[in-house]
Amino acid sequence: HLMASMEVEESYIMIKPDGVQRGLVGEIISRFENKGFKLKGLKLFQCPKELAEEHYKDLSSKSFFPKLISYITSGPVVCMAWEGVGVVASARKLIGATNPLQAEPGTIRGDLAVQTGRNVVHGSDSPENGKREIALWFKEGELTEWTPVQSPWLI
Ligand code: ADP
Ligand code: MG
Repeated sequence: HLMASMEVEESYIMIKPDGVQRGLVGEIISRFENKGFKLKGLKLFQCPKELAEEHYKDLSSKSFFPKLISYITSGPVVCMAWEGVGVVASARKLIGATNPLQAEPGTIRGDLAVQTGRNVVHGSDSPENGKREIALWFKEGELTEWTPVQSPWLI
């Protein structure tokens, strides 16, 4: 809905361990930066098991859950908080379908990944989860409020 997409929202975007190991950090950050969203938080981080389990708690009954937790904790991830009008749904579009073989070319997963269990990036699925996940992954003082220099080319 148009009105819903006019809201300023926050999304938690995370480059998963395969994205870091494959040297795709700059490529993936560029997709969100080039789109015009605003970065509010960024860190490289080795995720403890308990945090991965909390982040993915809605999937805890799935058969792939143990593999998902070992994947996410297998190496450092890049944690990001992005802000913007409609950023949650837009980021999901930029990321593409969960199964990279079904993700459209032009999306991050469509261009850069093959397997569902190695799909390089996470994005929040609702504005509520955006807030929840940013609060989960970032401590106080790790997020920065700032105002970009006004450009007539971006709203
Ligand atoms: P998305 O990341 O697109 O929101 P889900 O929330 O459904 O997808 O699942 C979270 C993550 O769990 C996926 O990104 C993927 O890494 C992993 N996953 C989902 N389904 C499977 C599966 N069938 N086998 C292995 N891993 C899966
Ligand atoms: Mg999800």
